[in-house]
Amino acid sequence: MKAKIQEKFESLFGEEGILYASAGRINLIGEHTDYNGGYVFPGAINFGIMTAIKPNGTDKVKVYSLDFDQVSEFGLKEEDKPKEAWACYVFGVCRETIKRGGKVEGFNAVFAGDVPLGAGLSSSAALESTFAFAINDLFNDNKIEKFELAKIGQSTEHNYCGVKCGIMDQFASIFGKEGSLIRLNCKTGEYKYFPFHPKGYKLVLIDSCVKHELASSAYNKRRESCERAAAAIRKNHPEVEFLSDAKRLWLDEVRSEITEEDFLRAEYVIGEVQRVLDVCDALERDDYETVGEMMYQTHFGLSRLYEVSCEELDFLNKLARKMDVSGSRVMGGGFGGCTINLVKEELYDNFIKAAVEKFTQKFGHAPKVYDVVISDGARKL
Ligand code: ADP
Ligand code: MG
Repeated sequence: MKAKIQEKFESLFGEEGILYASAGRINLIGEHTDYNGGYVFPGAINFGIMTAIKPNGTDKVKVYSLDFDQVSEFGLKEEDKPKEAWACYVFGVCRETIKRGGKVEGFNAVFAGDVPLGAGLSSSAALESTFAFAINDLFNDNKIEKFELAKIGQSTEHNYCGVKCGIMDQFASIFGKEGSLIRLNCKTGEYKYFPFHPKGYKLVLIDSCVKHELASSAYNKRRESCERAAAAIRKNHPEVEFLSDAKRLWLDEVRSEITEEDFLRAEYVIGEVQRVLDVCDALERDDYETVGEMMYQTHFGLSRLYEVSCEELDFLNKLARKMDVSGSRVMGGGFGGCTINLVKEELYDNFIKAAVEKFTQKFGHAPKVYDVVISDGARKL
């Protein structure tokens, strides 16, 4: 990828660019916890975006997407938003940097990537983080703090791409480190690195390649359930700001005051916050079997309590269990996308073969398989 990018940069601009890269992400555990003020536990992966870039002495940006074979040129004022959707990510990062008092001047860039688009690995965050990091290095002496870089990416999605996302994806992409997952407290912004060296295991995503339409309305309903449950608990325990602050016992106290549905949703969330902590403990002991078991518990919760799974994902999860895969769960918001699986190396080939064959037989299309390795996030090459 590097050679292709530099070659294109030279042919367009007659010199070499400076190389920067960032990465997509997985989330090992901690799903639907972000808006409940709980933990997420992501890491950057070996799929990313890379750019060659160089200031051009003007007030214009000229950026070329190798993957789309398209060039976009734009100025740096609010009214200069480009028409190409992919270029809005780059433009947004420039604008959000400027809005925060950062400096951005004209530049030339050529970029490419290998994060599958829309598969739940956050190619968009990889793109934002690459440019946010590069702009900080090239024009701002790296004075913008890393957390702010993540927020620049998040605000780009909100204000220039129409996606109201949380902070996890950009956070993981900016802060990611090889061999480490990062536990982020979504309420306080505190984070901590944990070692992730699953020796003898592989981490593999199986993409069902389905997206059920329910996703956005169901998401809002889940949020409302959580808010109602938190409000009920708060009457007895005023310190409960978010649902994740509640103890399981406190939920039981209000069981008769809330609907059974709200109770189940809250039961999942409170359990999930604890599971993230349990997984962190297990990782410090190198106990990957416990990590895997927690992943299955999360899947059960997402499927039966939170009810955001679907037939395709439950099928993949059940097959994993049957084939003695150590851990498996739906990753992301639900209703489609990938399962993330922790598989012993000796079982890997058989599991993947069976998953692809049986899934295809049942659903009429093949799933996609991505082997992931926890890798570095945003960086200069
Ligand atoms: P994801 O879940 O992968 O983040 P999104 O829909 O949020 O999916 O973001 C995908 C968008 O990001 C693409 O439609 C494109 O505009 C941009 N993008 C991601 N990767 C690339 C790439 N390699 N080249 C150009 N644009 C990209
Ligand atoms: Mg995205």
